Amino acid sequence: MNCALIIAGPCSAESEQQVISTAKALSAQGVKYFRAGLWKPRTQPGTFEGVGEIGLQWLHQVKINTGMAVGTEIANAEHARLAVAAGLDFVWIGARTTTNPFAVQEIANVLRGNNDMLVLVKNPMNPDINLWIGAIKRLQQAGIQRIMAIHRGFSIYNSLSYRNDPQWHIPIELHRQFPKIPIICDPSHIGGAKEHIQHLSQKAFDLDFDGLMIEVHNNPAQALSDAEQQLTPAEFASVTQSLVVHQRTTNNHELAELRSQIDSLDTILIETLARRMQVSREIGDYKHKHNMPIVQTGRYNDLIQNRLDLADELGLSTQLIKQIYQLIHEESVNIQLKK
Ligand code: PEP
Ligand code: MN
Repeated sequence: MNCALIIAGPCSAESEQQVISTAKALSAQGVKYFRAGLWKPRTQPGTFEGVGEIGLQWLHQVKINTGMAVGTEIANAEHARLAVAAGLDFVWIGARTTTNPFAVQEIANVLRGNNDMLVLVKNPMNPDINLWIGAIKRLQQAGIQRIMAIHRGFSIYNSLSYRNDPQWHIPIELHRQFPKIPIICDPSHIGGAKEHIQHLSQKAFDLDFDGLMIEVHNNPAQALSDAEQQLTPAEFASVTQSLVVHQRTTNNHELAELRSQIDSLDTILIETLARRMQVSREIGDYKHKHNMPIVQTGRYNDLIQNRLDLADELGLSTQLIKQIYQLIHEESVNIQLKK
């Protein structure tokens, strides 16, 4: 695996020994960015809330001992000031903080004009892309130069398979709108369990993410936070060795040919849709002239059944065709109502 930004390290810094030994094991595998949470935004009080300021010295030791870039999560202006004073190489704004524009603005004000420190913005807890975009814009408007986004999934009540719902279309849309902001995936907080890290990481690369942030602890069973999802350095090695990072080529002829077929088919699709809407308008005129109701349930039921049968015959998802026809029908009705 190469060409991707990999950030690894424990969920929380717990002791100098734990931090240094995890960092050395990761550095030996070529990892260049070391993470460790010092101020932990825990959902429930009374759980481990991080070692705080003292951990900055441990991160400094990691930097001296291994040469890795070091970083932590910041959630307010005070954390940001301490991170700058300690010479951290990167910080990230956690999911709970991205939901809070006041906190993000406070942090942006402290980091104003900074072009050394890398600032990563995790997605907000809830699937609201605008909060994520808003946080990125606050940092950009403060003149911060090096910004990246982290996808860590979205909180849901009673999650069945993962701790957080990935909703991959949201980071993909963010990347479409901000192509210059690299986006990295945090499979540890999406998955919430060790066994999900490998396939979520591969999926992120399949979707052209720029890197990963993975939680690694020298002794996960004894971890004070997120014990179930942290990998040992050896497990981390086997995950990263298995990952395939795809080539980004732009001059592949075979791909260009297939894409041009897609472009032509899309033109036919849209032209056909426009013709369909024109016929629908004519039907609207007819119904109006003959004083007929616009929606005729029997006709719609027959139509949808017929289209679903055809879709099935052609090996298309009937769920997809049903959704498309619901939208087309809604638009048709609106056109006819405007008569
Ligand atoms: C973390 O990275 O340890 C963390 C608390 O993440 P999140 O903000 O994604 O919950
Ligand atoms: Mn964690």
